[in-house]
Amino acid sequence: MPRPPGDVRNAEEPPAGIPLSRREFVLGSTAGLAALACVPAAFGAQTDLERAEWQAFLRRPWPRPARLDSFAGRHPRLFLTPERIARVKQDAGGSHAAIWSMVREKANGYLGRLPPMNFEKQQDMREAGRGIPWQALAFLVTGNDACLASAKRWILTVCGFPHWEQNNSLAGGECLFGVAIGYDWLYPHFTDSERAQVRAKLVLQARAMKDGPPVHHDVWLANHNHLEHTGLAAAGFALFDEVPEAAGWIRQADLVYREFLHQAAGDGSSTEGHQYWGYTTESALRYFELARDLLGTNYYDHPWLKRVAQFILHSTLPDFNSTQCVMTFGDAGRSFNSHGPTHLLYRVAAEYRDRQAQWLALEMDRRGVGRGDFCTWTSLLWYDATLAPEPISRLPTLGRSEDIGWVTDRSDWSAGAVMVGFKCGPMHGHKTQVFYDRQFREKWPRFKSIGGGHGHADVNSFQIYAHGKWLAIDPGYERPKATRTHNTILVNGHGQLGEGTTWFDRDAVLAAGAKSALVRSDARPGYDYLVGDAMNIYPAAAGLTKFHRHFLYLKPDIVVVVDDLQLARASSLEWLLHTESEWRSGEENAFVAVNDEVEMDVQFLPGAKTGAKIDRRTLSLAIAAEGQTRIVAVLHPRQRGGAVARARLEPSAGSVLALAIDAGGRRVRVELDPARQSVVVTA
Ligand SMILES: [Zn+2]
Repeated sequence: MPRPPGDVRNAEEPPAGIPLSRREFVLGSTAGLAALACVPAAFGAQTDLERAEWQAFLRRPWPRPARLDSFAGRHPRLFLTPERIARVKQDAGGSHAAIWSMVREKANGYLGRLPPMNFEKQQDMREAGRGIPWQALAFLVTGNDACLASAKRWILTVCGFPHWEQNNSLAGGECLFGVAIGYDWLYPHFTDSERAQVRAKLVLQARAMKDGPPVHHDVWLANHNHLEHTGLAAAGFALFDEVPEAAGWIRQADLVYREFLHQAAGDGSSTEGHQYWGYTTESALRYFELARDLLGTNYYDHPWLKRVAQFILHSTLPDFNSTQCVMTFGDAGRSFNSHGPTHLLYRVAAEYRDRQAQWLALEMDRRGVGRGDFCTWTSLLWYDATLAPEPISRLPTLGRSEDIGWVTDRSDWSAGAVMVGFKCGPMHGHKTQVFYDRQFREKWPRFKSIGGGHGHADVNSFQIYAHGKWLAIDPGYERPKATRTHNTILVNGHGQLGEGTTWFDRDAVLAAGAKSALVRSDARPGYDYLVGDAMNIYPAAAGLTKFHRHFLYLKPDIVVVVDDLQLARASSLEWLLHTESEWRSGEENAFVAVNDEVEMDVQFLPGAKTGAKIDRRTLSLAIAAEGQTRIVAVLHPRQRGGAVARARLEPSAGSVLALAIDAGGRRVRVELDPARQSVVVTA
């Protein structure tokens, strides 16, 4: 079969095996999933085919850029040059004073300390590696001898450890990066024997990483892979002029990052949530900066990178702070969990002259978001003070990550705004789905997983945050993955394919050929209209043949959720809504989510309370149904004491659903035709 341009396959085509069914193919894929499950996949554990594919990948052409050799014999060269240091010193006393104060504070915290000493422990060794750039940077800016002595002692201690946890995973990546930076930045301040010791350790560890190979070496979208290869690349850039093989470390990292960009979605997103996305992005940006400086390779024209800022901007909570910062789906908390994101925003703002990203980064810094996070020392280098910030208030309120079917929306950009999120996409996004489908269609002898294990079985789920409080929530980091914990529907007790395992069960989704997609996301004056199609994401045993969720956001504060379902047999449905704090029974047929001074009315139409129940933080509605069924819910977040919303069904023709909603004197009439996906809203 001819290979299309930009093909991701290895140069050597693995032999076509006996044609496999989709299920057989997927069930034979556990080796691919094991890598995702954070199980060390030592080389010995690889199959011959896996090893052959990786070796073939490494044989891809990579002409060594001539620019690299122009840096031979010059230090520092990683992120900094003598000229850049002069500028950073100047900035630290002026335009970058606030960032410098953060860097100095963090660096001072390391003064006189030794790194964590348990070299068998991944977390300790990650901290050991991360501690180095802060201290070395503080010395370069201040020239303080105590900073230098402390940094050197730290580096030499790390280099004295016999190994860095298992060498070829996150710990090895963090230590390689940190020690490489220390070697390069403090080059003239080591004695010859110290330099030889650090160099020898870097060579030893880089070999262990490269040939390990890195645990996630070919899981193209996994944050582990990016961090591991950024560490390997940094060692290469630090040593290429002293150790001939070091160029090979750069080469491997560059090939991996090219493949990552080739596979990454065009919308800057990830279904794994902002925490892992942030880890990937800060690793990638560091590599791309090194590649541009030292190889002359510019990766910034890639669409994924161009959309990094919007993925942050539109997910940021209206009144964000250091602990409550982001509305996210997947295995993530409500902050970026030590991965910024201010440094990410500064970098892409400077690159693309994005004044709103600049504003958000400055404002996040002012509020202490991500202060002193693992890698935010880069802000001192990446903030471009010549770019004037512009408040985000003029951005569109609807943000789409179209590849993963992830939408966030808000009433306005004020701190007290109502914010909603909705998700309905293929398990890891459209682009990845095409890649997986192709493997099946072409009967690849081995299933090739490329990431996504931190995604959730959350099709057609939504979140609501209003007036500074959570009202409809995602569970955050969860093991095992479950649909029941999401604001969507269970059918005859079944959740969606992908649930039930520690990491998202891709096998189950692929075996069923299951898809789901956001089929409409219209921004209109006064309201936005989304339609999610769950397609066949529920197991066949559920007996569900159609689940369209119509999510109508009437700005500023009314959400209408219309579920249009088709059931093959008499079925029981469970409609779920999880809140942050508690539920109470409201007047007549309503329920009220309560979170301090903020409440949300939930009214089912028609208005029988039968089947609805409160179980701690979960409101559920059980419905017995057969054939075509509709569930209509009207949600109204408001301040406590604000007017309660009242909705009623009105007579209408055909498949049209007519709703009259009254919220404190504001009257809205909605005519929604689920069959035609048309909606008319009149005041
Ligand atoms: Zn979730």
